[in-house]
Amino acid sequence: MTRTPYSTVPIAERVTPQSVALRGVVKTYRSGTSATAVLGGITLAFPRRSFTAVMGPSGSGKSTLLHCAAGLERPTSGSVAIDGTELTGLDETALTRFRRDRLGFVFQSYNLLSTLTVRQNITLPAELASRRVTTAAVRDVLARLGLDRHADARPATLSGGQQQRVAIARALLNEPAVIFADEPTGALDSRAAAQVLGLLRDAVDVSGRTVVMVTHDPVAASVADAVVFFADGQVRETLVRPSVEAVAARMATLGVAIGTDGGR
Ligand code: ADP
Repeated sequence: MTRTPYSTVPIAERVTPQSVALRGVVKTYRSGTSATAVLGGITLAFPRRSFTAVMGPSGSGKSTLLHCAAGLERPTSGSVAIDGTELTGLDETALTRFRRDRLGFVFQSYNLLSTLTVRQNITLPAELASRRVTTAAVRDVLARLGLDRHADARPATLSGGQQQRVAIARALLNEPAVIFADEPTGALDSRAAAQVLGLLRDAVDVSGRTVVMVTHDPVAASVADAVVFFADGQVRETLVRPSVEAVAARMATLGVAIGTDGGR
């Protein structure tokens, strides 16, 4: 399968279909009379079937960017469109439904329900949406993610890497347009992290999804097609087809502290 080339050409001039398009996204938090601009007008596009890593110093706005792009938070101004749907034009109910039906989320903390089995965890979003998933589809995703022997296990009996694979299985079963991942390997050892990154890579190359991942780890970032470097609520630079060395060098230049898991 051909990989969508990543480009920093302005959105309007691009031929590649955009999966996620942010235009002039500003996010300001108010506290009393003061206002802090966390995102200072971001215009950025994530092409369909691409894997993008977002990096930057702690507090630079990476999570806020991810949350605005995924419709978990509303921008103060600007617009976000996913596969042509303007999220900023949706009311709360429609936005919740859009997230549930079209997006997948993978967080550092896995966010699995401890009282449910692996199988119940991954089919829960479909159940909540009253959407039918076939037994074959569940079996297929469990097998692809190496979880077939754990379908009836509770999350607490699994390793961190296995739990994160359950979270990815849950996202994939939904066949989302975009998977948003916030530090998905942050709590994993290097071997489990490599497996998780391989699965996210396959989600793009094999399943045709778009992945946007916040990470501190140059090794994780090197699995992506491009790295967007972020500082003070602005995009500073984009690195295409990143190597671990190039990412680490760029982080040093931009004064980004490499995370505790950065030495892998
Ligand atoms: P990063 O993910 O790069 O560490 P964040 O997006 O989490 O950065 O946060 C960027 C800045 O926005 C931080 O200074 C943080 O304190 C501030 N911030 C984030 N969420 C809120 C909020 N709900 N209210 C006020 N300030 C916030």
